[in-house]
Amino acid sequence: MSNWTPAQGPGVPPKSNAISDVACPFCGLVCDDLEIARDESGLHVIKNGCEKAVAGFERKVDGAKPQVDGRDVDLETAIRAATELIGKSALPLYGGLGTDVDGIRAVMALADKSGGVVDHALSEGQYRNFRVLQTTGWIMTTLTEARNRADMFIIVGSDLHKLHPRFYERIVNVESSLFSDTPEKRTVVFLGKGLDQSGAQGSRIGEILALGADLDRVGEVVAALSSTIRGAPTVAESIAGVPIAEIRALAERLQAATYPVFVWAPPSLAFPNADLVVTAVSDLVKELNVKGRAAGLALGGNEGAISAGAVSSWQSGYPLRVSFASGKPDYDFLRYAIPNMLANGEGDLLVWIASFTPDLGPPACAGKVPLVVLGTPGLKLANPPRVYIPVGTPGADHAGRIIRVDNVVSLPLKNLGRSNLPRAADILAAIELAL
Ligand code: SF4
Repeated sequence: MSNWTPAQGPGVPPKSNAISDVACPFCGLVCDDLEIARDESGLHVIKNGCEKAVAGFERKVDGAKPQVDGRDVDLETAIRAATELIGKSALPLYGGLGTDVDGIRAVMALADKSGGVVDHALSEGQYRNFRVLQTTGWIMTTLTEARNRADMFIIVGSDLHKLHPRFYERIVNVESSLFSDTPEKRTVVFLGKGLDQSGAQGSRIGEILALGADLDRVGEVVAALSSTIRGAPTVAESIAGVPIAEIRALAERLQAATYPVFVWAPPSLAFPNADLVVTAVSDLVKELNVKGRAAGLALGGNEGAISAGAVSSWQSGYPLRVSFASGKPDYDFLRYAIPNMLANGEGDLLVWIASFTPDLGPPACAGKVPLVVLGTPGLKLANPPRVYIPVGTPGADHAGRIIRVDNVVSLPLKNLGRSNLPRAADILAAIELAL
């Protein structure tokens, strides 16, 4: 649950100025119930926000100018300079990709025309999911179904509310559910040592259980749950430090539950071969569906990562890490990982797009090649770009559309009039036209 409290006191616009039902683009949940007011000092989150939303909406972005080689220039000059660099590049790399649906469509078109490679800054986490989806398939649910149907949430190795501060408030500890057969209280199980349980509070939260395996061994516990449910004998007294009696007890509870939902955030599973944890969860969900009902729910997807993966899939047939260098889409999730390409001296230009938060700067190894940045003002840059073009944030500076973390809906983002900064999509389209 978020610790954020609404802004109050002098300087905060009256509630009558508020714009309601605002969708928030600052994490993959895309909560669409915020109230935001605007006055001469900027935007103010006055209802249903969280600390991430406040940081995103209330940030000041005025005054940033396009630059070429560190000198302020007009927008046309910056677009011309970016076009020249892309035109001369033998293999441009399009990274970051923190933008909305229109922005990523424009990136794909430009990469296609210029023979470049596309990869999102948060792809590494997403690929912990993609590899399982591509190889074995899975049974997943949506935020809405989990909110209304689940009676048990199993949090797998992830501090969810650090990435998504309102997850427990919006999905687990909700005041009511659509269906009367939903049990009054939900059980929350934390799988993993040291997970922060502070978000799991409120009237809908019943029992809280914890199985304290080391995070990089959580997959072993999940696999042991599967084998227990299948009836396989276990001779070990403990698995990954968890007594076998605790694993058997949880296996029984999972089978007795009406609709257990396993939740993880791929960016939290930051250890080698973490996709094996996702595989183990996916197998357990399938096992539980033999006699009952269960599902997975993968979170993450901040910085427009879900939109990037979806648009890349429907335009190229592949979920990012796609090269257009041969004139047609070529997919290789290892070969076309932009951080690896930069480290190996592949690519001769990096075009970096980051329109949501100032934290999505290019990797340090980006200093090996010229850099073109389409970024939100204040974007953290370790190396000076050849061209910098400040762009607006979809949902704050201009309207847009973004795909939610469960991949089932795209939500409209409002123009809240925070600034006159241009859309990344328009800059990219202008470059493509001039190329
Ligand atoms: S939880 Fe995420 S989408 Fe919801 S208000 Fe906070 S940052 Fe925005």
